[in-house]
Amino acid sequence: MKTSYDFVRPDLPANLEALGKLALDLRWSWSHVADELWQRIDSDLWHRTRNPWLILQTVSIRHLQDLSGDEQFLELLKTLRQEQQHAAGNQAWFQEQGYADKLASVAYFSMEFGLSEALPIYSGGLGVLAGDHLKTASELGLPLTAVGLLYQQGYFRQGLDAEGRQLAFYPYNDPTLMPVRPARDASGEWLQVSLPFPGRELLLRVWEVRLGRIKLYLLDSNHPLNRPADRGVTSELYGGGAEMRLQQEMVLGLGGYTALEALGAQPEICHLNEGHAALVVLARARRFMQQHCVDFSTAFTATRAGNLFTTHTPVEAGFDRFDPSLVNCYLKPLARDLKLSAEALLALGHAPGSSSDTAFQMAWLALHGSGHVNAVSRLHGEVSRKLFSPLFPRWPLAEVPVSHVTNGVHTSTWDSHESDRLWTRICGKERWRGNLTDMEESIHRATDVELWETRTRNRQQLISWLHDQPLGIHNGNNQAVEFDPNTLTLGFARRFATYKRPNLLLQDPARLAHLLTDGQRPVQLLIAGKAHPRDHAGQQMIQEWIQFIRNHHLQHKVVFIPDYDLLLAEQLVQGIDLWINTPRRPWEACGTSGMKVLVNGGLNLSELDGWWAEAWSPEVGWALGDGQEHGDDPAWDRSESRALYDILEAEVLPLFYQRDHAGIPRQWVARMRMSMATLTPRFSSNRMLRQYTESHYLPMAAACRKRSIHGARLASQISSWQGFIKKHWGGVYFGQVESRTMENQHVFDVQVYLDDIPPDLVAVEVYADPADKPSPERYPMKRVKALAGAVNGYAYLGVIPAQRPISHYTVRVLPQHPEVSIPLEERHILWAN
Ligand SMILES: *Cc1c(COP(=O)(O)O)cnc(C)c1O
Repeated sequence: MKTSYDFVRPDLPANLEALGKLALDLRWSWSHVADELWQRIDSDLWHRTRNPWLILQTVSIRHLQDLSGDEQFLELLKTLRQEQQHAAGNQAWFQEQGYADKLASVAYFSMEFGLSEALPIYSGGLGVLAGDHLKTASELGLPLTAVGLLYQQGYFRQGLDAEGRQLAFYPYNDPTLMPVRPARDASGEWLQVSLPFPGRELLLRVWEVRLGRIKLYLLDSNHPLNRPADRGVTSELYGGGAEMRLQQEMVLGLGGYTALEALGAQPEICHLNEGHAALVVLARARRFMQQHCVDFSTAFTATRAGNLFTTHTPVEAGFDRFDPSLVNCYLKPLARDLKLSAEALLALGHAPGSSSDTAFQMAWLALHGSGHVNAVSRLHGEVSRKLFSPLFPRWPLAEVPVSHVTNGVHTSTWDSHESDRLWTRICGKERWRGNLTDMEESIHRATDVELWETRTRNRQQLISWLHDQPLGIHNGNNQAVEFDPNTLTLGFARRFATYKRPNLLLQDPARLAHLLTDGQRPVQLLIAGKAHPRDHAGQQMIQEWIQFIRNHHLQHKVVFIPDYDLLLAEQLVQGIDLWINTPRRPWEACGTSGMKVLVNGGLNLSELDGWWAEAWSPEVGWALGDGQEHGDDPAWDRSESRALYDILEAEVLPLFYQRDHAGIPRQWVARMRMSMATLTPRFSSNRMLRQYTESHYLPMAAACRKRSIHGARLASQISSWQGFIKKHWGGVYFGQVESRTMENQHVFDVQVYLDDIPPDLVAVEVYADPADKPSPERYPMKRVKALAGAVNGYAYLGVIPAQRPISHYTVRVLPQHPEVSIPLEERHILWAN
């Protein structure tokens, strides 16, 4: 019988047919059994590419025939195929919780996805996070579909010349060698969508990637019918100028949403992974307008309840902004469909009160079009509330509506074979698929010896991998350098950007050299990281490291491994003993690489920034900094670098080398145990996705359904209510405001005049900033009587416990509506003083 996988290899022996189905399902990127299978077909290709699809097309028919008679191989194939089918049909966490009726579909939009090196369409942390999100969604059974771009080149690949200067290469991503297939429409035709560009249509081809139960659709502009320049729209990730970025974001947001429509998908939740995807909110509103014959405002109100915006940016300069004339030029057809004037469209990307020539910010659009907004760590939540505060004039910082879901990593992608064995024995095979209860306790049952053996093998494996690498001319020699498998191994791998301070360890080169050459307590250091091709300061820092290694003849102690990618990251996070991270607080929105070492028994030494600010305690690792912000003060950098050396010399080295009679560093192992037990589950993408589901996807889907039913009646009501508030708010004012303290209580008496607004549409309350509490204090005031002689004027009374000085409290009036998120959707507010 013919199957849809015949095109893989028409000559595939019948009993190996399952190979096609396996090769095109990215589940292999996190299954250790898959490692064994593909390794047996071509060990070298597997280790160098991790691309089963490539292997399957490369392997000779002779070898396939041999394998088709190899019982052991067939057994392995059967196991994997069963695993695949089991995973696809199985009731997973999402179904077991009874959520299937409450949430039908989520669409996840991202500019980059870091799933596997076989599909190089990512640049760094943002993409890897998106990849981990999808893998976890598949395991937990979420009804999620993802949308991204298929880049012809993706992000640049790094080389280094003899002087340590960074070289940028752009090898071609051949779609026929990547695990992607053309997406087919209902009639079986290759799906393509078209997008109006100024004076022309841009044609986009759609590709499909499978990952367990999830599909990822990738759009690509390299269509023969496009103009040559347009064919390159999806060539590079984060290349080109502002215009190309806008074009790419149109492809993602508008083209991506259109592709889903064409596939018959009607996502209840659209999850925007970073502001790049902001245009989704307009494409979705347009669709709603057409389907329900309603105006833009109603459609926007109905759909925004189902849009979740996750911001990843820690600094204002990180937000995409576009010249309004560029936006006008490209989005004219969209504005026409939405029946919006050019000004009204631009206002969606502006803060209130901006003039129309202000730059259009995608993050502002994303916020305006979303029902929930979240940052990616607790600290980043605080930072984001500051960044988004211009959108909420007169609102206190504490009430800027940005919550947080701290990132997590897909543990099964990042664990080594050794670690997987250990965790499987202790916590079972299905350990990352459920609620992670009891996991902490289970790890406490592992013996010190087991933990230490796992750690040792993980490090040995890394060092043996390192010895097989051609490390390149920049290391001063081309031969493999001998590193030691039993030496304390430090790792530093991340983007070389100034704020990450990749040269903090280099502030005192002599002291570092001394530390590395201590004969009693040896240390070795593995470094990797790319600097953006336009970031000269970042490239300079790479060169500083190379020169340091050369000048101090430390080739056997320090190595800079070029081209930090997923394959390299995987090796490093499995083998490194101590992962070092030195960002300038609060510039690391979250950081995830340090989470990847947890499952493998690696420890962290990091600035108290991003996730580490909420994860660190003395039992699990080491903290750098005082938990405060110091800008780019060079004196502070020097003092932190001294602290870094101090911690390494006085704490890390002694702890690692303090062995008992059995050769085990008991105190080091104690930290490993605490870090593995308490942090691995907490910073896993399993926890992250359950949190997204329960705190965001589910309540948002309910809200969106409520607003959409009955011809979007509620949405239309909300939209009129907002129009009414807007019209009359200017006429709202305070009369007398009096306050006094009596017997441990503060008493507030105020008069409020409400123009034409009925009093039940507003709340009058006493407010105080949070001080040392997690949230602000708010006390509703009671309407006690209508004011004699006034039209729609009332007296309000508030009596509150006098826990803080009365000067901390202020009275305010704000609109209220049980179905509206305030102030995200409705920002009017009036303060008594
Ligand atoms: C995890 C990962 C990152 C992100 O790590 P940070 O902690 O944000 O530096 C970047 N690049 C690769 C290849 C990764 O695997």
